[in-house]
Amino acid sequence: MGLDIRFAAELAMGVLLATTLAACSAPVTPAAAGGLKVVATTTVFADIVANVGGDRVAVDSIVPAGVGPEDYEPKPEDARKLADAGLIVKNGVGLDDFLDRLLDANTQRTPILVLGEGIPTIDVDGQPNPHFWLDPTLVRDRYLPAIVAELSRLDPAGKATYDTNAAAYAAKLDALDTALAAKVATIPTANRKLVTFHDAFPYFAKHYGFELVGVVLANVGQEPTAADLAALVDKVKAAGVKAVFSEAQFNPKLSQTLADEAGISQVVTTLYNDALGPAPADTYLGMMTWNVDRIVEALK
Ligand SMILES: [Zn+2]
Repeated sequence: MGLDIRFAAELAMGVLLATTLAACSAPVTPAAAGGLKVVATTTVFADIVANVGGDRVAVDSIVPAGVGPEDYEPKPEDARKLADAGLIVKNGVGLDDFLDRLLDANTQRTPILVLGEGIPTIDVDGQPNPHFWLDPTLVRDRYLPAIVAELSRLDPAGKATYDTNAAAYAAKLDALDTALAAKVATIPTANRKLVTFHDAFPYFAKHYGFELVGVVLANVGQEPTAADLAALVDKVKAAGVKAVFSEAQFNPKLSQTLADEAGISQVVTTLYNDALGPAPADTYLGMMTWNVDRIVEALK
């Protein structure tokens, strides 16, 4: 296929030309083409896939670090990124629906791995919650096998490598989980209560034994009403929580208001969950340790 055709297609942005391109594009030949190109919706999933894929895959993500996926507005360059992908990785369960709006004639036949598929959900306010990965045992038991299976299907020659890499990463997840549980154990039981900005922590809370007292933002992209906030202030006061947490991807203003109204002096604004942060929270493992250290500091 000539470069001129591709160039013309980009200029025209025509569905017809794009369809022609997709129709005549070669099947994925990962190893020969210098590695399988994977595009994940978020930096968290990209990091986990990179740990399994190693040298055999090139991984990119769409939502930048420090930005949330639930209200992400796709950009034209995102579609271009996806057009080159041999595999697209998303979480599903409503976290990264923006992806559906990006799929076009170039990508409609690209394999999509939905990491959250089949994982039993916890419902929050009647909605199945998508934030499985904040429980590292779900990453180990659900995400990793799904990633290994899909990479091995697309690149059978790499199966042994993917198995080995996943086993090594699973061992790191085990060590992480043990370390985090030990840190949480230093928080007096009565203080293990979380109030966060959005509803990212149900799987984390269930696994590590926290009570979720409430969230400021029940629906991302929809500001709470004054009545919602007042009800949350009452709940937070009654529960006697020691700190209000806010995720770095959101403006902490409302969390500060909640803390002021409830007479809580600690507001921690640097938790990461949907997106990685600056080092040492720039990997999934680093992010989890960072979060638990901030939570322990505030609640101990
Ligand atoms: Zn989220």
